[in-house]
Formats: sequence, structure tokens, C-alpha cells
Amino acid sequence: MIRVGFRWLERGKTRHPETSTLKGGSLRPVDFPALVGVIAHPTRGHFLFDTGYDPAFIEATEPFPERFYRWATPVAVREEHHWPAWLARDGIAEDSLAGLIVSHFHGDHVAGARHLAHLPMYCAQAGLAHLRQGARFALVRKGMLPALVPTAMDAQAHFFEHAPEVALPTAFAPFTSGRDILGDGSLLAVELPGHCPGHWGLAFVDANDRAVLLCADAVWSGKAIDENRPPPRLTTALMGDTATYCGTLDQLHQARCNNGELAILPSHCPASAIAYRGDDAD
Ligand SMILES: [Zn+2]
Repeated sequence: MIRVGFRWLERGKTRHPETSTLKGGSLRPVDFPALVGVIAHPTRGHFLFDTGYDPAFIEATEPFPERFYRWATPVAVREEHHWPAWLARDGIAEDSLAGLIVSHFHGDHVAGARHLAHLPMYCAQAGLAHLRQGARFALVRKGMLPALVPTAMDAQAHFFEHAPEVALPTAFAPFTSGRDILGDGSLLAVELPGHCPGHWGLAFVDANDRAVLLCADAVWSGKAIDENRPPPRLTTALMGDTATYCGTLDQLHQARCNNGELAILPSHCPASAIAYRGDDAD
């Protein structure tokens, strides 16, 4: 596989009791940063895996019923998370951006999509269809805010489901195949169903030859994968399908057991991000 550079960068965060995301977890509120994957392709430029929070999230959740979403997940978006200051802080030139890869259409993953509206969007057809077809109340209840994704992006969308299916390296077992979204084998989208309609992860090999699976919201923490421990049924049933969710979690757990070197990175788990970077946890 073509190697790609990879960094996780935080863009805003929210807080929930741990128990809402991990069965038997504590009632203590825990930070859930919104992590954005910055993928440096050797010839194509930078691709973002999701966008994290953005001031657009605050605007979109001003009216009711959307305000309920912000109440349920109070969001911190600081000055440093504003575009393009956020890009500049990490030395990412705006003209180096080549596309947006969307794991799924929950508001905390696509809030900054408007900044990338001129670029191709790689996403699940099923996810985009759900975003565009659902009723307003039902969508808010499921964490979706259609206004965050400019409709002009729909015409620029490249659907995972239409990309060629290719075999994954054995490092990703039991996941055996992915969708070759750029056509060069560098970035392979892997369906991880259950969290919500059209929920996908991304498999690649990083510049240090390490196999990486970005698993988005298939889990909220690396601990959940290690212990094969789902959130309470209430959480999974609210947004997706509990049995399917648990099947995906079981596959991630198997992947972790098969290959301790595989980096499985959830979008809201600071401990997994720190372990991947090799920093000392503080
Ligand atoms: Zn989500």
C-alpha cells in the first residue's frame, strides 16, 4: 500500500458522563474531544477525515428543535478552533487540501464541511441520503444537522459504495476488504455499521509502516475495544442498531486481539490518540 502521513488534531470538544458511552462506566463527566484526521498523501495533498466542531455548529443549533442537540452535548469551540486559524496553527496550507472524507454525518463530524465545499467529498451514499431525506425533528434526535453540509457538496460526492472493493492487508483481520476511494490503494474505506446509517472507518498504512484503522464512532474509547464493552443499550438504540453495533465492536475487539500493532483510533478517545503518537500520557 502507498504510505500516507497521519495526524489527529482536536477541533472542539464536549462532555458526557462516561456511563453514557460505556456500560458500567462512571457518572463523572469526561471530555470527548472531536478529533480530525489529517492525512498527508504523497502526491495528492491533504485529506481531512471529518471536520470536528466549528462555529457553524453553534449557528445551526440556535433555533429549536436543533437547540436540544447543543443542550444534550454542550460544546466548547474556542478561538483557536476557528478556520483558518486552526489549519495555520498546525502548518496546513489551505491550498494543500484535496478533499474531505466523512465517516458519518453526525454534527460533530461535519460541522466544518462548509470550508471544504469546493473540494470532493468522499462519503457513504446511505449516510448522505439519510441526512437529506429525514424529517427535521427525527434528524436532530439522531444528531444530524443537514444545514452543516452545503447541498452543493452532494454533486461533488464520491460514494464509498461505488469505489472498487479491494482486499485489506492481513494486519486488519478480521476485516478483509475495503473500498479504494482514491483508486491508488492508499485509503480504503471500511464499513463499520451500527452507530448510525452510513457509518464507515478508514484503513491505511502510515509513514512508519504502521497499519491504522480510523474507526470513527464505532466506539467512544479504546477501552471499549479492549474489553469488548458496548455503551448502554439506550445510547446505541437511540442513534443506530444495537445488535449491529455489537457485531462491529466484536470485530474491532478481534482485530485488537489478532494484532496488537494495529492502531485502532476512535474519533473521541484522547488516550488512543496519545498512545498512537507515542507521547507520555499525563
Ligand atoms: Zn457519531
